[in-house]
Amino acid sequence: MLLRRLPVPPIVLSLMLAALLAGCGKKPSPARVTPPAEPPHCLAAIEAAGARTVAWQMSTSGACGVSSPVVASTARFAMKPPLKTSCLMLAAWMSFEPEVEALALRHLGQRVVALRHYGSHACRTMTGNGNRRSLHASARALDIAGFELADGSVVLVKRDWRSRGPEGRFLRAVAKAACQRFSVVLTPESDRFHHDHIHVDLGPWKLCST
Ligand SMILES: [Zn+2]
Repeated sequence: MLLRRLPVPPIVLSLMLAALLAGCGKKPSPARVTPPAEPPHCLAAIEAAGARTVAWQMSTSGACGVSSPVVASTARFAMKPPLKTSCLMLAAWMSFEPEVEALALRHLGQRVVALRHYGSHACRTMTGNGNRRSLHASARALDIAGFELADGSVVLVKRDWRSRGPEGRFLRAVAKAACQRFSVVLTPESDRFHHDHIHVDLGPWKLCST
């Protein structure tokens, strides 16, 4: 009935609807940004900041090469499991940890003792886009699964993201804060591939999907 009264062909209506949905904010388009460069003396700087790392024999060239590879057992928080990543990513994570800690104290009244993660380095293309190489290929990304707190409790993205309680508020606040420090932040709000983790990366695109 509605279509019959409108002097607009259905194909134009479809295009208008598509344009409206694209601009609704649910799936914002990424903008090009200059990716951050590795800080000078990165390995020495993260050790001085308290990271405990061991050597990781990883090629620094090739399609999935990592610049300044490190395995961190501890940054400010313990890494569970030990995190194979780039010095750049670890340095960025370490500078974000005090903010995570402050949010945990505010929302949960607890200090954070460990980061649970699903990894940083993986030689693969993007989930949902097989044509583009993932930032995980160069270890410039990190998948946050959750956090262990000082009282022994655990907050998990998979279980607590949609919670209306303090755990959910904490996780959503962490994702929002991450948008100020990382290029891309993807969450369970983004797509089905991120139902159980928060993806952060240091790539050439800016996108905050929280
Ligand atoms: Zn990821």
